[in-house]
Amino acid sequence: MKTYLNPSQEQWPTLAQRQTVASADLNETVKSIFSDIEKNGSKAVKKYTQYFDGVTLENLKVTTAEIEKALTKVPADLKKAIQTAAGNIKRFHQSQQEIAKKIETTSGVFCWRESRAINSVGIYIPGGTAPLFSTVLMLAIPAQIAGCKNIILCSPPDKNGELNPAILYAAQLTGVTQIYKVGGIQAIAAMTLGTDEIPKADKLFGPGNQFVTAAKQYAQQLGTAIDLPAGPSELLVIADDSCDPDFVASDLLSQAEHGGDSQVILVTNSETIVAKVTSAIEQQKAVLPRQSVVEKALENSRALVFETIQKGIEFSNFYAPEHLILAVEDAENMLPFIENAGSVFLGNYSCESAGDYASGTNHTLPTNGFAKNYSGVSLDSFVKKITVQKLTSKGLQNLGPTIEIMAEAEQLTAHRNAVSVRLQKLQNGDYN
Ligand code: NAD
Repeated sequence: MKTYLNPSQEQWPTLAQRQTVASADLNETVKSIFSDIEKNGSKAVKKYTQYFDGVTLENLKVTTAEIEKALTKVPADLKKAIQTAAGNIKRFHQSQQEIAKKIETTSGVFCWRESRAINSVGIYIPGGTAPLFSTVLMLAIPAQIAGCKNIILCSPPDKNGELNPAILYAAQLTGVTQIYKVGGIQAIAAMTLGTDEIPKADKLFGPGNQFVTAAKQYAQQLGTAIDLPAGPSELLVIADDSCDPDFVASDLLSQAEHGGDSQVILVTNSETIVAKVTSAIEQQKAVLPRQSVVEKALENSRALVFETIQKGIEFSNFYAPEHLILAVEDAENMLPFIENAGSVFLGNYSCESAGDYASGTNHTLPTNGFAKNYSGVSLDSFVKKITVQKLTSKGLQNLGPTIEIMAEAEQLTAHRNAVSVRLQKLQNGDYN
């Protein structure tokens, strides 16, 4: 992890760069896989599964017998932990349900919004480097609360052509039954286009590596909605003297182990903190099983020393991290200065892993600077909001002249008439 002292504003764009695959090549791969799957359906999906995941599958759908077998393999303490996390995620997402507020904007003119679930949702559960069964909870729970009728789950198979038992347990716990052993671009293409085995979804959800993210963006161009660009994980930690360097190091490593393309950034006002955190990273890294992944991610990570924490916050807003830890004195008072971040963790005890698994917030969050203009997944992501209005006769009489004048000025006479014919009949006494 390279250190930069008081980097000038001109350096910020370079320092905020994430590691990306050349997108022209990537987009070509995505397009050609989509086109093949459109023509050849599941046969093509299986071909890419063999190519990228190294397994030959006869059927993509996970059978009931496979689920039952898998459930026996999940240890009781893991089942209990998944249940605890699911409870918190459910409580937090249920609290996002809104009661429709009916507003009288003008006397006799009532407006409100109603939520309706998106019918078919496709949830992608990453599984390339680690089987992220926690993502099943993060996506299926809000989908169920919203009332989505079809939840289609895709996740890459392991070398034996199976899904991790914990993924299947989490799916069973959250009531997901349409589960397919397919990952990467081919999974996103199948859920976008629909195949003879995998149903088409109205909206696609879920994090994934750069291939998955690029495929989701292409799906969007084809007219299928997506949640957000949730690519390789990132963490930015802002730390002052009040931090514990061991805690900071553990958090940075926790995100670095996601993938070689992950990025972690330490922002501080003290070179001593950089030295202490770097040494703690070395110590803690030595015993991590995913050391090579961590090392690759750290190559693309940095420590930035600014004169003040306030300047560090300015950089953080520029970078727009997926996860932001404020390991600073009075962290909560710093919150109003945070403009761009997917999810914020306040103080020394709010480790990022809590949000990844079990505190209740969603871990599907915008990466690569998209926290500037996207929110993470929430209950709202699974519904459409329909606006409704009701005008009484008095309401139309009150508001009608305004509409008539505006329609006339836009030269849309039929629009004006829709008001005028009503007002005329009301004036004639045809209606009460
Ligand atoms: P993944 O399931 O996203 O990707 C695995 C698939 O990638 C494979 O099945 C394969 O089909 C495909 N693939 C691999 N190499 C390829 C190549 N050269 N060309 C085309 N396709 C290829 O699993 P992963 O790789 O472990 O990545 C998970 C990602 O999700 C990580 O980058 C992690 O940081 C990220 N993540 C993000 C969030 C978020 O909210 N942003 C949350 C959790 C995880």
